[in-house]
Amino acid sequence: MAASDTVDTDCIHLFLRLCDVNGSLPANNIFSGTMAKLYFYYSSMNAGKSTSLLQSSYNYRERGMHTMVLAPAIDDRYGNGIVASRIGLQTEATIFNAKDDLYQLIDSEHSVNKLSCVLIDEAQFLNRDQVFQLSEVCDQLDIPVLAYGIRTDFQGEPFEGSKYLLAWADNLKELKAICHCGRKAIMVVRRDAEGNAVTEGAQIEIGGNDRYESTCRVHFKQAYYGS
Ligand SMILES: [Zn+2]
Repeated sequence: MAASDTVDTDCIHLFLRLCDVNGSLPANNIFSGTMAKLYFYYSSMNAGKSTSLLQSSYNYRERGMHTMVLAPAIDDRYGNGIVASRIGLQTEATIFNAKDDLYQLIDSEHSVNKLSCVLIDEAQFLNRDQVFQLSEVCDQLDIPVLAYGIRTDFQGEPFEGSKYLLAWADNLKELKAICHCGRKAIMVVRRDAEGNAVTEGAQIEIGGNDRYESTCRVHFKQAYYGS
C-alpha cells in the first residue's frame, strides 16, 4: 500500500496559497531575500515517488508554468525519455548520464522556457557533483528543485545521490512504504529467482531476474543476515 496519496510539497502549497491571496501568479522569488529550495523526497521502493513527482509537475503546468523533468539514463524500465508511475501517469523527461552537468542542462532550458520547477526522478543515481549542480540551480538560478530517490541499496548502503541530498537539501521529506508486517518499510531487499535474499553484487542491476522488496529494518536484517 503506497502512502503517497497526498502530494505535499511546500513550494506547491505556498504557491497555491499565494495565488489565492493575490489572484495572480507569483514569481519564484516572491519574498525578497528568499531563495529557491532543494527538496529531497526519499523512501524505500514502491512508495509512490514517481506518482508524487508527476502530480507536482502537473500542479505547475496546469497553471501555465514550465517545469523540467530529468531522469538518469540508467533507468530504462519504461523507455528513454519517459517518467512513468505504477498507477499509469507519465510524462516526457530529459535523460541525463553521469557525465552531464545538470546546471548547464537546466540553465540552457531555462533560457528558452523560463522554468518554475525542476523535478528529478531516481535521484539516488545522481553523483556528488550533480547534487552540487542542483544546489546551484537553486542558489544561482533561483529555481526550486524537487529530487525523488531511494535512500539505501539492497546491502543497506546509502546511494551516492541520496547521501548528498540528505546532507545538502534544504527540506527532507519521507514518502512512506509499508513492509509486509505492517511496519514502515525503510530498506530494500533484493531477491533472486528462487526468492533468496541477494547479499553481493553490483549496486545497480536493472533488467535482471532479481526482484526488490521494501521491508522494515527487522525484516531486512532477517533476509540479509539470516538472523
Ligand atoms: Zn517488517
